Amino acid sequence: MESGTVTRRGMLLGMAGLVGAVGAGSLLNLSSVAHAATDKDGTPVTSEEALAYLRAGNRRWRNGDIQQRDYTPSGKQLVNGQWPIAGVVSCADSRVNPENVFDVARGNLFNVRNAGNVAGDITIGSLEYAVAVLGIPLIVVLGHTACGAVKATQESVATGKMPGGDIDAIVNAIAPAVRALPAKHTLTQAISANAQQTTRQLIDGSAIIDAAVRAKKLLIREGVYDIATKRVTLLPV
Ligand SMILES: [Zn+2]
Repeated sequence: MESGTVTRRGMLLGMAGLVGAVGAGSLLNLSSVAHAATDKDGTPVTSEEALAYLRAGNRRWRNGDIQQRDYTPSGKQLVNGQWPIAGVVSCADSRVNPENVFDVARGNLFNVRNAGNVAGDITIGSLEYAVAVLGIPLIVVLGHTACGAVKATQESVATGKMPGGDIDAIVNAIAPAVRALPAKHTLTQAISANAQQTTRQLIDGSAIIDAAVRAKKLLIREGVYDIATKRVTLLPV
């Protein structure tokens, strides 16, 4: 895994120079138009504004004041493109649906979901598209309470037994975060550590994401969604 990361990083470091030289659209050969997130007035949405929109949306969701806010720029039709204000890496858990959790309409979040909200080539590649082509200013890595994937990893690390099948890949992805904690730790601690590990891997595994963060065009924050209270608590920076 270590050498793969280095190889990928080396390759993308070369690509990062091209992003500046010819533009992300040309680099990825997907589109010549970067769909940077803007608000209804056409003003670019900053990282902090996007985060404030999501925090306000979560407040509405947990208070039952559901409005499904839509930040798609005026005059833009979803059939002609997408203008998400944030990327969200969240668990596949059926109780964690980002559009509900942040009370926004379809078209507003670029979602990457898998059991345990882990990073990996597919997650990173998806987000590189969202950053380089769609111009998202924010990524939220969203863990959640009672996460079965993290719990299974705790058990596997403690007992040495693997669950079997390709579930092993999920456990192997989460395990380094769990092993780095003291032997006696809580599920809450493991959930936070796993979200923080995902953020590190997004940055370390992608020259495009790393460059966007360094240029302050992209903010990455981790949060934990409490299934009981519906509240998202952001982890400290
Ligand atoms: Zn989960």
